[in-house]
Amino acid sequence: MRIAIPRETQSGENRVPITPDVAKKLVRMGANLQVESGMGTGSGFTDEQFTEAGATIVSDRNELFSSADMLLRLNKPTAEEIALMQRGAIHISYLDPFNEHALVNAFKDAGVTSISMEMIPRTTRSQKMDALSSQANLAGYVMVMKAASELPRIFPMMMTPAGTLKPANVFVIGAGVAGLQAIATAKRLGAKVTAFDTRPVVAEQVQSLGAKFLEIDLGETGETAGGYAKELTPEQVEKQQQAQADIIAKSDVVITTAQLFGRKPPVLITKDVVERMAPGSVIVDMAAESGGNVEGSVPGETVEWSGVTIVGTGNWAGEVPRDASQMYSSNLFNLVEDNWCEEKKLFVVDFNDDILPGCIITHGGEITNDTIKNIIE
Ligand code: NAD
Repeated sequence: MRIAIPRETQSGENRVPITPDVAKKLVRMGANLQVESGMGTGSGFTDEQFTEAGATIVSDRNELFSSADMLLRLNKPTAEEIALMQRGAIHISYLDPFNEHALVNAFKDAGVTSISMEMIPRTTRSQKMDALSSQANLAGYVMVMKAASELPRIFPMMMTPAGTLKPANVFVIGAGVAGLQAIATAKRLGAKVTAFDTRPVVAEQVQSLGAKFLEIDLGETGETAGGYAKELTPEQVEKQQQAQADIIAKSDVVITTAQLFGRKPPVLITKDVVERMAPGSVIVDMAAESGGNVEGSVPGETVEWSGVTIVGTGNWAGEVPRDASQMYSSNLFNLVEDNWCEEKKLFVVDFNDDILPGCIITHGGEITNDTIKNIIE
């Protein structure tokens, strides 16, 4: 099977889908691996390392796309790239299928099997393939580092002959994968951390990291069968906004990671609350690019409102591309290996598998994923 790894072309993207170590493993499994020249540069990997791993370096990008049986990559393709692919080819990447309706239809019309990394079910068996988690973990770390570098004070308490510095107060909203890592990182730096999540089950996880869980009685909240947070009613959102306003006003750093799978994230911090924070305080809005948890955050930018720095730069895991590439590459490899036929040396699309059908969006000229089909058709 001919597996192609194109160079990522999205601006500012330094992560790469496959590292030389994973390339070696794919070749050992029997794949004919074709890597676009310069593919690894963003994360510091050279063409020579991929050649040593047993891959062939290809300079002609059109040829790479049109001859591949399978493409492994990070970001979604363009419509032009889909048009180059063979009918029956398999394309695995992030895809944002809830919003990218035209791309899903382009995959369907081209007869390409598209697999979305965001749609891998969050089960125990699929943890090794779960790129949302691997990248969110790094995002949690990076967001705290960003906040620390913007804040005009330090995180830990410091007792010196010149006086005592109090620890910074950090408030984390949303304690999923990214939020828990943000809490752990801020604790490691010595901050006093409080967190809130609408899923009551995470209170214990927050406390086990040494942070305080803010209790807010929102009535019925809970989670979906897939383990995601349920959307709050407008009344519940307003209640949450009011209940956390005082703690936000007193925080040096607020990190928002509240997301709703497949839907726009809720606005949880309004401008009047930002204005109550001390000048120099920092808010990091993880969701800035998909709508924002914070009024006034700007996707891709760091802005100031009423003396408060609001960071919405996005692509958080991309700030540590070497580690992010290693983890993503490993997620991709595990997905391929799990569906690899050793005898025929190819990836088998099996709709009886317990993981694969959930993340296949299109196959054989159809949209096979019911959730996405219901939204698009
Ligand atoms: P996510 O990115 O969808 O959301 C981040 C967090 O925001 C979640 O904890 C969510 O509850 C929270 N949130 C939503 N609305 C909020 C609000 N109004 N206020 C405060 N917080 C709010 O979630 P995720 O981090 O990707 O994790 C989703 C779920 O999947 C979790 O239950 C997690 O434990 C589970 N998970 C399971 C596995 C596995 O078993 N393989 C792996 C990873 C995650």
